Amino acid sequence: MNDDRRLEFLKLFEKLISVMTFPDRFVREELVDALRNLSKFFRLSKGTTEFFRSISDEKSGVGEILTDYDEGPADFIAHQRRIVSPMGTVCKVTLYMSNDEKRLSEEEIAHLDVVARSLISFVTRNRLSNAVDRLSFYDEDNYPNLRYFFRHIERISDRNALFGNTLIVINCRQFALINRDIGRAAGDIVLRRYYEIFEDTLGDKGLICRVGGDSFTILCENDMVNDITRLIEGIPVTYDEEHEKRVMVSSCAGVYPLPADISPEHPGEIFGPVYALSQEAKLELGQPILYVNRAYSEEREKAAHIRHRFLEALENAEFQAYYQPKVDVRDGRIIGAEALCRWFENGKLIPPGDFIPVLEQNMDICLLDFYMLEMVCRNMKNWMDKGKDLVRVSVNLSRKNLIDADLLKRIVDRIDFYKIPHDKIEIELTETKTEVEFNRLKTVVTGLQEAGIWTAVDDFGVGYSSLNLIREIPWNVLKIDRCLLPVEGDSEEVTRLMFRHVAAMANDMGLKCVAEGVETKEHIELMKENGCPIAQGYYFDRPLPIEEFEKRLLKGFYELDK
Ligand code: C2E
Ligand code: MG
Ligand code: MG
Repeated sequence: MNDDRRLEFLKLFEKLISVMTFPDRFVREELVDALRNLSKFFRLSKGTTEFFRSISDEKSGVGEILTDYDEGPADFIAHQRRIVSPMGTVCKVTLYMSNDEKRLSEEEIAHLDVVARSLISFVTRNRLSNAVDRLSFYDEDNYPNLRYFFRHIERISDRNALFGNTLIVINCRQFALINRDIGRAAGDIVLRRYYEIFEDTLGDKGLICRVGGDSFTILCENDMVNDITRLIEGIPVTYDEEHEKRVMVSSCAGVYPLPADISPEHPGEIFGPVYALSQEAKLELGQPILYVNRAYSEEREKAAHIRHRFLEALENAEFQAYYQPKVDVRDGRIIGAEALCRWFENGKLIPPGDFIPVLEQNMDICLLDFYMLEMVCRNMKNWMDKGKDLVRVSVNLSRKNLIDADLLKRIVDRIDFYKIPHDKIEIELTETKTEVEFNRLKTVVTGLQEAGIWTAVDDFGVGYSSLNLIREIPWNVLKIDRCLLPVEGDSEEVTRLMFRHVAAMANDMGLKCVAEGVETKEHIELMKENGCPIAQGYYFDRPLPIEEFEKRLLKGFYELDK
């Protein structure tokens, strides 16, 4: 090679290197062009590049083969270079010549080898970065994943263009059942089709990625939201075209129209709350789609405040036991009371409806329940010490306590510590949601029963009270919820009928029957007619501070004909 030729080679090689150096600005045509010029320079007739993910792939011939140049008869291999990368991938460049061309000199082959090695290193790097992309941004079933979604949000956020978009997280309902009914393989097809229906509907106006399992997340322009919620509410999805088999799929979702001032440090900041909302929607039977709005944000702030303050409030003794009398409607005697929790924060009352559900989201409620039990025992001990007659007091226990293996022992310990007669304490529990919980409930109630402590099933008639609940578990008391008492003014015959049957059933099963939320004379009449002897409600009194309640106890009864 003379100097001119060397110089020409350097120019062509430099062009190739510049095309390959910046992969993000890479244009395939430019690469092909640079390679063509070099091939001509070396009198080649054809050049191929092969890429295999592993040596065994190479052996079985499974890989990518690109022909970079093909301009004549490939009579023999003029040069070949094969490199195995440290990751185990194989890249091979093969260069052919026609018999008519002059053979390459040693020097030319040395130069050509430099080209081949550069090309191999470029192809390997390029392929690996694609592979890393695939591994990072797609999940094992080849759906774009949350990282992909976050990168998308970051790009839009970078352009300050998030406003005008809505973030949605959806959870399929009962997908486990679909899997069970039609089989896992068909279930996978349903999930993929379902995803594709969203993807097609969104077009270039949004993106859908999989969060995991049967949960997806969407970012779309606001004007797509109606179309998307319609899909969420339920659509038929075909999984076997030949036999026209399809299933209905519906989801629940959290929906967040992004506000104008949105600029998250990290996409997780906006995704997190919507995801949490979608989980809540799963539990909320009547409301499959929940929206992030001002009311919702305020609610969350309140809940956060409650969680944050709770332990401190316990220590500061901000909680008090109020007592609501239970009255025998036949003679007006006070036969017991329910202890209900009241929280005074800086003298301001927070109603239990605000804080109990929040504390029930974790185990905090158990601390409160035992605090209440303790307080009730202490008050009763006080009455005993003053020589007063005791009435039975009931204490509410959240279902959350059921996972405590020592629950029974802890309750008995507390009552015995204050030497309260067991039959003067009643524990109120509500129905359970799962079978495991049901079995635990049965064990605990049976244990309390054996210890002589009274038990009551609370809120009977709310939700889906099952007959098993009262047939299989040995309760003393059934508390009929106030939703089974007729509301004044309306002639709710069905409610009356239900009340009658529940009361009759309780009596047949030997359970004492208590009606909650008794507010009117009419309610009292209904109770008398149907053999429900005990009333708790505003008709007699609201839950009272202890001093007030003690006054009522001193008198011992209510006038019935007021
Ligand atoms: P609950 O155990 O069913 O208690 C009865 C609720 O009905 C009480 O509400 C009571 O004030 C209310 N009530 C009684 N009579 C009437 C009436 O005539 N009309 C109406 N409209 N309402 C009446 P409260 O005190 O607001 O408590 C609400 C719920 O909070 C309780 O329902 C109970 O589930 C829970 N709770 C209260 N204290 C505790 C506690 O210490 N531990 C646990 N786990 N839950 C508690
Ligand atoms: Mg109760
Ligand atoms: Mg109740």
